[in-house]
Amino acid sequence: TKTTSSLIIDKTQKFGANNYLPLPVVISRAKGVWVEDPEGNKYIDMLSAYSAVNQGHRHPKIIQALKDQAERVTLTSRAFHNDQLGLFYEKVARLTGKDMVLPMNTGAEAVETAIKAARRWAYEVKGLPDNQAEIIACKGNFHGRTMTAVSLSSEEEYKRGFGPMIPGIKLIPYGDIEALKKAISPNTAAFLVEPIQGEAGIIIPPKGFLREAFDVCQKHNVLFIADEIQAGLGRSGKRFACDWENVQPDMYILGKALGGGVFPISCVAANKEILGVFNPGSHGSTFGGNPLACAVAVAALDVLEEERLAERSLELGNYFQEKLRQIKSSVIKEVRGRGLFIGVELYNPARPYCEQLKEEGLLCKETHETVIRFAPPLVISKEELDWALERIYKVLHTS
Ligand code: PLP
Repeated sequence: TKTTSSLIIDKTQKFGANNYLPLPVVISRAKGVWVEDPEGNKYIDMLSAYSAVNQGHRHPKIIQALKDQAERVTLTSRAFHNDQLGLFYEKVARLTGKDMVLPMNTGAEAVETAIKAARRWAYEVKGLPDNQAEIIACKGNFHGRTMTAVSLSSEEEYKRGFGPMIPGIKLIPYGDIEALKKAISPNTAAFLVEPIQGEAGIIIPPKGFLREAFDVCQKHNVLFIADEIQAGLGRSGKRFACDWENVQPDMYILGKALGGGVFPISCVAANKEILGVFNPGSHGSTFGGNPLACAVAVAALDVLEEERLAERSLELGNYFQEKLRQIKSSVIKEVRGRGLFIGVELYNPARPYCEQLKEEGLLCKETHETVIRFAPPLVISKEELDWALERIYKVLHTS
């Protein structure tokens, strides 16, 4: 006799494309930092849907905003105005200190938007010859799965069988300021960077890199674009991960927690001279800026501020990292992170440890083979972190 969970997994695998390898756990309910399977087993969520659930599962204020908006209007398309979009723009413009915002739905689409903006800016404002614009990105980056995003990638497996890639991309080693200086040419439009590389395994750039890179870009009239989709919105212990070096990028790319784990919404934010290059007909999305997403996003950003989730992340992250570093273990190579954005690098493949942690009631996911990422919802309490630490200790310590 099969469990409900295994029947669900069978069905999912039978009819679905095989582009993921999930842990064998089915989540059918969730609240705050806790999730539950159909059999009633409870787990603590230490992944937060790759940082999309920073505010915790089904935050009451965000769910209320969703319900209230669902009672009024959910989709107008951009053929007409809706009464929520302006409020969303104002909120994001204030948060980022930028003049203008352009809404999309997913992270990858916002990355696409940033690249289009940078290229058009390069031709219309910087004055590059047509079709010559170059984008510099970093090895090990993750900017999503669309053709542009995989064209930016240094991972062969992300690109295999999907060619031809889009041209005009140069890659430098992450954190290498000299390589950036060398890569910049008269045709460089933008430098696109994750202020902390998430999917690469929570890689923190060398101290001073973001600041120096920003200064180098300014000197050469190159846009500094920060992909804050995963590291931003409180995750790293600051509002934006660029805040660690007091860098205000020319363009922010936001997603994930912008929708509070409730509804997909992403955006780019930049000043008029950059985002002003778009005119009617040059870019858009049927669902981008829909009133349901906008109402949810405003509530999600309110929660980040009202509950001081960035500060919480910093404080609890320092505590959690310190405790992780105290675990005596011959399998742990390094514990690194900022706030509650933590990578535990092992000497061995991380997957079996994630499976053991699941058996102990803790959900997390390996990234890049040997790294366990711990990124719980930022509403987690110290007691809940201690509960998680006990399980992590049990699975990872060696005598
Ligand atoms: N950029 C970064 C830094 C990400 O971490 C991700 C997702 O993991 C993306 C872009 C892509 O976002 P989405 O999966 O919503 O397209």
